[in-house]
Amino acid sequence: MSLRHPVITRFAPTPSGELHVGHVLAAWRARRLADVHGGLCVLRIENIDADRTRDPRWLAGIYEDMQWLGIRFDGEVMLQSRRMGEYAAALKKLRRMGVLYPCFCTRADARAQWTEMTSAPHAGWHMHYSGHCRMLSDDRIAELIAKGVPYAWRVNMRLVEELIGCPLWEDLQLGVRRCVPSQCEDAVLARKDIPASYHLAVVVDDAAQRVNLVTRGADLIEYTPLQRALQALLGLPTPLYAHHVVLRDTGGKRLAKRDHACSVRSLRAQGISAKQLLSAVQRAAERGGVWTGWG
Ligand code: GLU
Ligand code: ZN
Repeated sequence: MSLRHPVITRFAPTPSGELHVGHVLAAWRARRLADVHGGLCVLRIENIDADRTRDPRWLAGIYEDMQWLGIRFDGEVMLQSRRMGEYAAALKKLRRMGVLYPCFCTRADARAQWTEMTSAPHAGWHMHYSGHCRMLSDDRIAELIAKGVPYAWRVNMRLVEELIGCPLWEDLQLGVRRCVPSQCEDAVLARKDIPASYHLAVVVDDAAQRVNLVTRGADLIEYTPLQRALQALLGLPTPLYAHHVVLRDTGGKRLAKRDHACSVRSLRAQGISAKQLLSAVQRAAERGGVWTGWG
């Protein structure tokens, strides 16, 4: 695999709060990689979750902050909220392939199953779904649906492996990796409340925007094999990846969205210039992601 031309990268923020320094790194890196290769960089707003992205100021803030930083994007902005029909079509295709199953579990059920499975008392962030509903009989499924129990659609990754095997993907820095579907979680592709999910939308949209170089934080690398498998199932081209460091404070803690002190808006209000911010972000990336502010 090698870079295809023109190189098309993307910045895909979720407007669920103010942009912070981590977003600045992601946006700058995407723009920079496009420029280095004489390519394009597109913008996608990941707002399938109307509740999390309800405040219109957050979307307006993205445009404003990017303009202030001098980071521009090519072509039209893609808004995921307008693409539910595309996600429904992809979901239908996967359902027809027989790789999806309804999951009736609540969050509490999933946590309890996970604890039982691993005998770990604290179900943390990286709790994996137990596969409970993969085992339900057709009769039981029909019964629960008839009762009106809400359900999500999950993808049966063991079955996916039988269909597509173990496809490769490549990261510019990390090299070629193999996706082993059966080692991926049976992810939710359509939520109970939204007929789509991040994973489904991201593969459909990267293809629709012709993105061939996905630049994003290394915190998402654990999902790349799953997304690679979905690309294979849906017959979509697979992009190259360029995962970058995630910014952390000196104590090693990830800079979070909630941390207002690191938001672009508040730094701007403190009189920091766009140039200062961009160079501080680049320095942090060179230091392996350690954010020390202006020191
Ligand atoms: N929307 C995601 C975020 O804000 C990024 C998804 C991706 O780059 O694949 O973190
Ligand atoms: Zn379930």
